This record gives sequence, C-alpha cells and structure tokens, in this order.
Amino acid sequence: MGSRGDTKEFRPRSVLVLDANGALMGEVSFAKAVRAVVSGRAVVLDPRQWTRLDSLPVSIYLISVILFPQAHAKGKIKLLGKGKRVILRRDGFRCQYCGKHASTIDHVQPRCQGGPTSYINLVAACLVCNNAKSGRTPEQAGMTLLRPVPSPRQILEERLALACNM
Ligand SMILES: [Zn+2]
Repeated sequence: MGSRGDTKEFRPRSVLVLDANGALMGEVSFAKAVRAVVSGRAVVLDPRQWTRLDSLPVSIYLISVILFPQAHAKGKIKLLGKGKRVILRRDGFRCQYCGKHASTIDHVQPRCQGGPTSYINLVAACLVCNNAKSGRTPEQAGMTLLRPVPSPRQILEERLALACNM
C-alpha cells in the first residue's frame, strides 16, 4: 500500500499522550503533537527505552508517544475523532459479528429498543450482518460479538504496548 518513506504520502495518524507520571491521557493528532513539542510544552518519548528525546527525532514521523511534563491525567480518556470513523478504526474495520471487512456501524442494543448511540454500544459491522441483525439485540438475532467492546483506555494501552515492542 503506497510507497513507504515518502513524506508526501504520509497519512496523518494519532500520537499517544502521557502525563508527568507516564500515565495515559489520550491521543492527539500528529500535527498537534508536533506543535506541542516545538513549543516546548511536550517532549517526545522513545517508548522502547521509556526515555525522553531532547529534540525532535531525525524523522519526526517516528513520533508515536509524547509526554507533557506539567500535566496530570484525570478523568476519562477520549479517542481522537468522531462518530463512525472512531468505531471502525477501533475495531480494525472488521465486522464484530463475522470478521469480514466492515463499512457500517451497528447499535449492539438497537436504537428502537432504547440502545444509546455511544462508544460502548457501537461496533463495526459489515452490511450483511447489519441487515441480518436489523432492529434486534445479538441474542434475539442469534449472533455473537467476536470480542467484548473495549474501553478507550484498553485501546490506548494496547497501542502503547505495541509501541514499546516495536
Ligand atoms: Zn459481518
């Protein structure tokens, strides 16, 4: 997919944000992360060594984790982006019922049965499963979720663990 290393084709992604103690605070866009580092509010962290880099790395595109030395995490973690895209990205564009490519999102507890449009009640689904399930709960439709819906914190912790092992 695309030519790697060509900065023109670089696809913006999110950067994990840690507080002074290394606790996860959330994620920001790549552009926001660079601005925070350039302005001196944040430092780049090398997640493999868990050490701070004093300046931007040779390839700034390697930035995956930044740390705000003045910040203290509190409250809930929010994932970057809005709505459908966040859910599809969280679930890796995989239908959470059959594992095939997902292009739609499904209310696990259907809206017509009072299910909220919230992070925890939405999953990625392919069109076939979404239509088959229709206005029913998974139990009513005889379908099961491939995995429980992960919390935003779980998502970011997984990504942090990945970055540490890269
Ligand atoms: Zn499906």
